[in-house]
Amino acid sequence: MSLTQEFDTIAAISTPLGEGAIAIVRLSGTDALKIAQSVFKGKDLAKVASHTINYGHIFEAERLVDEVMVSVMRAPKTFTREDIVEINTHGGIAVTQEILQLLLRSGARLAEPGEFTKRAFLNGRIDLAQAESVMDLIRAKTDKAAHIAVKQLDGSLSHMINNIRQEILESLAQVEVNIDYPEYDDVETMTSQMLLEKTSHFEQLLETLLATAKRGKILREGLKTAIIGRPNVGKSSLLNQLLREEKAIVTDIAGTTRDTITEFANIGGVPLELIDTAGIRETDDLVESIGVERSKKALAEADLVLLVLDASNGLTAKDMELLELSKNSNRIILLNKTDLPEQLDVTQLSSDFIRISALKNENLEAVEQKINSIFFAGEIEAKDATVLSNARHIGLVEQALEALKEANNALALGLPVDLVQVDITRCWQLLGEITGEAAPDELITQLFSQFCLGK
Ligand code: GDP
Ligand code: ZN
Repeated sequence: MSLTQEFDTIAAISTPLGEGAIAIVRLSGTDALKIAQSVFKGKDLAKVASHTINYGHIFEAERLVDEVMVSVMRAPKTFTREDIVEINTHGGIAVTQEILQLLLRSGARLAEPGEFTKRAFLNGRIDLAQAESVMDLIRAKTDKAAHIAVKQLDGSLSHMINNIRQEILESLAQVEVNIDYPEYDDVETMTSQMLLEKTSHFEQLLETLLATAKRGKILREGLKTAIIGRPNVGKSSLLNQLLREEKAIVTDIAGTTRDTITEFANIGGVPLELIDTAGIRETDDLVESIGVERSKKALAEADLVLLVLDASNGLTAKDMELLELSKNSNRIILLNKTDLPEQLDVTQLSSDFIRISALKNENLEAVEQKINSIFFAGEIEAKDATVLSNARHIGLVEQALEALKEANNALALGLPVDLVQVDITRCWQLLGEITGEAAPDELITQLFSQFCLGK
């Protein structure tokens, strides 16, 4: 899609495909009302008030297609800043598709993925960082990740970036004055020292922002988690508790490997991406034979390791091996089966452990708290901080910071300010790519193409 095209009227199904009680077909553009009216029998949509929902029927010629509710929202107070019509259908996916086809035959064009959000951006309703947060919101795996996305949608990150850019611009203007009128004594002379103070200040702002990125990334993408332990200690049971599944999956018929399935567990708002659950779900004989090799591989990829021990039995050589293997990981030792009499001699464990019962779902909150303290130093609840969570944004802030550091080095070496100016300008430019103010067209096109249809 080109950025300079005329804004014709676009249409798409905006609810997830699949069976649902209702689905929404959305139209946006100058002819949205006219096109909707051409297939609708009910009130005259051209005459109804904006932001109303109207009962009626969709017809194809004389044939009734569905009973619907039609929302009418007139520009500019809409998501795209264009006229928007949303047809709430009842008839299931086939009927919804049929209504979409009808609209396309009546003059609408099928929207490309992300095109509604792209229009909101191009019409100045939201900036790029906000548009991306729409996408993050759609993909958010837990309520906390969604909370970050919502905050970005209301522009808190953009606001912060814009402030920093403004300050940088002012410094650049002063450098400019210094370069252009070196002979004027009354013009404030931007000495290297003063500029260094500013760039150090910017550096600190960006460092602070970047420090939130690790937390943001975890909340967004999940913590890669490996559950390891010898056969029968309760790994599958723990996995099922974490996934909150009713029934344990005990069998694994040859050929039905689950290797490609990524499972997420929501632990106090932190998404755990459980790796190698295929291994956990395979029969224990198999785990027995390849357990350690598999554990090694899982350990290498994992951000977090849950090592399960059976408290109702003494430590075995295999337990010791796994304890040794995982000692340098972010590891939580879980003493499982504590509902049974404890046989394991805990004095043999050199690190902290948590007593749980996977079978009875006991004390898993303690695991939650431990994860929180390892990865977030308890600050996961800090709601008001602006968090950097999007990989593209993180990359740009890192590069901007790099440019600033170069500026600082040059200043420290006593290089002329006009050389330093280049680095500072680059920093300003990079930050502008976050909000889209300085983003190239191709980037924008590519970003929006990652959206799902109908958004
Ligand atoms: P895995 O081989 O490590 O995956 O272990 P499983 O989850 O398959 O569990 C092995 C056996 O231990 C099963 O019979 C479970 O019901 C039992 N088990 C698992 N967790 C607990 C627990 O917390 N308490 C008790 N009493 N039994 C458990
Ligand atoms: Zn198992």
